[in-house]
Amino acid sequence: MINTRKTACLLSLSLAAFTSPLLAQQKDYPIQPVAFTSVHVNDNFWQPKMEVNANVTIPYVLAQCKANGRMDNFLRAAKKLDGDKLSEFPFDDTDVYKAIEGASYSMQNKKNPQLDKSIDSLITIIGAAQEPDGYLYTFRTVNAKKPHEWIGDKRWVNEEILSHELYDCGHLYEAAVAHFQATGKRTLLNIAIKNADLLVKTFGPGKIEEYPGHQIVEIGLSKMYRVTGNKQYLDLAKFFLDVRGPKGDAYNQADKKVIDQHEAEGHAVRAAYMYTGMADIAALTGDTKYLAAIDDIWSDVVTKKLYITGGIGATGAGEAFGEAYQLPNMSAYAETCAAIGNVYWNNRMFLLHGDSKYIDVLERTLYNGLLSGVSLSGNRFFYPNPLASMFQHQRSAWISCACCISNMTRFLPSLPGYVYAKNKNDLYINLFMSNSSNIKLTSGNVNIVQQTDYPWKGRVDITVNPDKTGEFTLRVRIPGWAKQQPVPGDLYTFMDKKSFPLTLMINGQAKSFETEKGYAVLKRTWKKGDKVSLLLPMETEKVLANQQVKDDRGRFAFERGPIVYCLEGPDNRDSLVQNILINKNAIADANYHADLLNGVDVISAEGKSAKRQLKTDSILQTDQIVKAIPYYAWANRGPSEMTVWIPYETSAVRPKPAPTIASTSKVSASLKNVRMFAAIKDQYEPADSKDTNYPYLHWWPAKNTNEFVQYDFDAEHTVSESKVYWYDDGPWGGCRIPVSYKILYKKDGQWVPVKNTTPYTVNKDSFNVVTFEPVATTALRMEIQLPVDNSTGIHEWAVK
Ligand SMILES: [Zn+2]
Repeated sequence: MINTRKTACLLSLSLAAFTSPLLAQQKDYPIQPVAFTSVHVNDNFWQPKMEVNANVTIPYVLAQCKANGRMDNFLRAAKKLDGDKLSEFPFDDTDVYKAIEGASYSMQNKKNPQLDKSIDSLITIIGAAQEPDGYLYTFRTVNAKKPHEWIGDKRWVNEEILSHELYDCGHLYEAAVAHFQATGKRTLLNIAIKNADLLVKTFGPGKIEEYPGHQIVEIGLSKMYRVTGNKQYLDLAKFFLDVRGPKGDAYNQADKKVIDQHEAEGHAVRAAYMYTGMADIAALTGDTKYLAAIDDIWSDVVTKKLYITGGIGATGAGEAFGEAYQLPNMSAYAETCAAIGNVYWNNRMFLLHGDSKYIDVLERTLYNGLLSGVSLSGNRFFYPNPLASMFQHQRSAWISCACCISNMTRFLPSLPGYVYAKNKNDLYINLFMSNSSNIKLTSGNVNIVQQTDYPWKGRVDITVNPDKTGEFTLRVRIPGWAKQQPVPGDLYTFMDKKSFPLTLMINGQAKSFETEKGYAVLKRTWKKGDKVSLLLPMETEKVLANQQVKDDRGRFAFERGPIVYCLEGPDNRDSLVQNILINKNAIADANYHADLLNGVDVISAEGKSAKRQLKTDSILQTDQIVKAIPYYAWANRGPSEMTVWIPYETSAVRPKPAPTIASTSKVSASLKNVRMFAAIKDQYEPADSKDTNYPYLHWWPAKNTNEFVQYDFDAEHTVSESKVYWYDDGPWGGCRIPVSYKILYKKDGQWVPVKNTTPYTVNKDSFNVVTFEPVATTALRMEIQLPVDNSTGIHEWAVK
């Protein structure tokens, strides 16, 4: 469940491209992105996804914003709609801004006059909701009789905690800049300028000296500075960073000055946005202390806190980074917004340093932990992106905290802005997807045409068409995975250390090449029609995690090129995967299946499935062919079992349960979510009561009620013992051990308490066993009294 205590969601934005700034700034990133407006993607992988985003996701999210009160918030603030009802969270305004941002990028990729018109009328409403001095925050302007408890009794007083006023401003600026760049219209930009001018008047040395509770306004202000040339915006962005810490919480990175931070901590989306904002300031001001801090934090994340999928933020407690090497799989939080933030941040790190290792992290995130956030259909979404499941995870049609949904909406159409970058006469080719692009170098204009079946095939053909023959340098990224290094550092390594040839040809002739910071450097005189071909070794690799990651011990993950694979129920025997074991030396094949999941490579390998047996501890193993699909494509066929990390050691396998009384019973409970029912009879003993790495059943948010769970046996059995393992996620979560419970059995259609011969106990972190006088029955029921102020849950309930 999403921790709603302190959560406030998250979000993000994009850097992509800055076309036609009104004024040229003196300092900026040494390497400049090639604007999304100049890159026309036409491949078979991303282009269809951007098409789904344009045709399904954007209209869907706009409709959901309307249906869920977000448009009404603006209408009420504008006094165009009666009443003072507001939607759920004070940051709900940002979903509308992010939808506008996505729509803007999308209209640049493909014209859509109807969408253009509806965005125009939306902007008119937003303008009407803005107060005369520029303040724009519907939750205050509506002036509700009972104001939302997060907003504070005056402007800004709750900003450092929960009001999200500046957070709303940040997303407004990102949307305004995107809309201006894509359409040339100043309507939203003017609203943003009026708002940013209010911030300049309000915050700064000698004015209000407070930091944003949820970062993003820093990024937005840097973008506003680039577009308007108003240096006050840049100064304010830097002020908002410098005023952070040291007396706040680690939760939102305010426990130290930003330049004194050297490890990733706290809420992962806030963190990723802050590091991105710091990179912007480092580029725009030349501040070396900022750079030193984010360089250290980057190394900390990449060597200790990054999922193989590129996801960040391991724990749902505070939606935060975990400790070093704390990377649980089933309970992985890895929020979609954090993956998007990780892409923003790594792109900026590349623009600062020109090293391909940042694009390696970006690409890994993009193809795996980010893309998993949206369904193939474009209208179902993940907030956390776990790396293992036992049916308990499912994509949502909408989430009241919709940050991840609107973030995905705006990110996907901005993708073309990440393919290339340039520095005078150096052209960086960072991502591989078929496209045609027009890029201006110092030596003149160059049209670049990429043709490739990446990520399924490793061949990339690049045709170089300069307007006039001339000397410049192509820097072609050689991905880390092609050099046997999945990520920088030693967090992940390939099991087989064989290296595969990597060939680069120019006009059909193999060429040796120099590499610099991970790029093949091709400096020569280029003429129209010159062709570079890169042949990357698209091999199936087994990836191992550092031994310090305890959750991945005895396991490997399949990877091919940039794609991380997983085992999912529908492709495997009995729809089970947690019981699968694959030998370390097993040979794996990959084949393209055009009709599966919109076309994917499927990996097949010989493996075994493991099963518990009654009356013996030995595990039964049966041979089977195991199939793996790309991780991003899982959960498109309903809830299922899934795992990224595949056991090669028997100790890591979770065998199929033996047929016990519990496992063959039908479960019912005073609960609607039937997907939790299997958890209590899966025969997995948790490490402790708060262990979220195994499924559990819970009644949250119910409290102080009497609840039940019930086993209907497959036949009459004589039973005399019950053992139950309680779920208790204190002090952060909402579940605690119950006040009391009792066992009843079914006798002549009535529930009768058993006569216990040992006392009922309610202890944490172990099984609570109770024995009772034997009863022959067809059903047992447990009645549970929830604590007054909390809910409760059950990991496992066994009977015999
Ligand atoms: Zn989110």
